Amino acid sequence: MNLFKTLQNIRRTIHKNPELSTKEYKTADFVEKILKENGIKTYRLCKTGVIGILEGKKKSSKKTKTVALRADLDALPIQEKNNHSYKSQNPGVMHACGHDGNTTILLGAAMILAKQTENFSGKVQFVFQPDEETAGGSEKLIENGVLSKNKVDSIVGVHVSPWVKTGQVALKYGAMMAGVDKFVIEIKGLLGHGAYPHLSKDPIVAASEYVMSLQTIVSRIINPIEPAVVTVGKIDGGTQYNIIADKVTIVGTVRTFSLKTRELIKKEMIKRLDGICKSYSMEYTFDYQLLNSPLINTVSVVDLCLDTAKKCYGDKNVVLLEYPSMGGEDFAEYLKVVKGAFVYVGTASNEKTSYPWHHEKFDMDETALPKGAELMAKIALAILK
Ligand code: MN
Repeated sequence: MNLFKTLQNIRRTIHKNPELSTKEYKTADFVEKILKENGIKTYRLCKTGVIGILEGKKKSSKKTKTVALRADLDALPIQEKNNHSYKSQNPGVMHACGHDGNTTILLGAAMILAKQTENFSGKVQFVFQPDEETAGGSEKLIENGVLSKNKVDSIVGVHVSPWVKTGQVALKYGAMMAGVDKFVIEIKGLLGHGAYPHLSKDPIVAASEYVMSLQTIVSRIINPIEPAVVTVGKIDGGTQYNIIADKVTIVGTVRTFSLKTRELIKKEMIKRLDGICKSYSMEYTFDYQLLNSPLINTVSVVDLCLDTAKKCYGDKNVVLLEYPSMGGEDFAEYLKVVKGAFVYVGTASNEKTSYPWHHEKFDMDETALPKGAELMAKIALAILK
């Protein structure tokens, strides 16, 4: 069977059987089986993480390196709206971010590299990471030694992209994706009759003022040259038209690229919350969680990826992204420990394969998979040289 057919079968099997973050048991078994069939040593990390180790047999007088290649295994709580033969068979769960494609590309790279261990020295470590979507998987793998056990020198992550055409690859120097934080705020009022506001404390009024005040943090406090987002995604309070609510919950996200901006926004959020609540004599709680760090690629590794991608795809098919994205990706955590880069493999060729990530009709042009696998294999070889 040729590589395309093999990878298409793998991708469709994974796509049909999606599993949610931290529950990727069957997917992990499936991936581990394929690695073993290709003579690659494996071990499990954090239950559903699969690590493959492939040692090169070429003799080297120099100290050898270990390069890690990373894909992710988890799906999303989305009901698939596609009607193709490989549609998700797990109701309410779907590979809508293309992690089925990422995993397939990495398995393809493993197959390619397993056949040429005579050609390199050092080790390639394949990292099939669980739990990317709820942002915790990479940190847990790192805590459990994924980078230290085999002394990983650098790491390259791959992601299929519906924003890049099939036959193309996209790379980015420096900051590529934002740091992602989540906030949960509760403003506590005093329940009362809607007709007697003077006898209660209305947290909906205070919350409204606060939501409007949040809008000016980015526009008036942050340097306009520095990218930042403050979004309130959910606001919840009250029971019915003639009752003053007892509390309001405000949930949202902050996106930034620097520690300084992140701290400044958080400080400003607390200051404004405290000020508004004080003026209405209300109490509040403020919970702020750091979900993802900003993803910052290492220049030297991007250089190598760029050079390899040009050789694989041709100069004009390698896109250097001008702007970072305000989206997040937990691959960022690895890059805080070792050098590396994140690579987009284009999988868009028509309307059906151009739906954005996390869309209920997300799909990919599978013909892009073998070349993506070849690229990842060649990047590993280039780094080990
Ligand atoms: Mn993803």
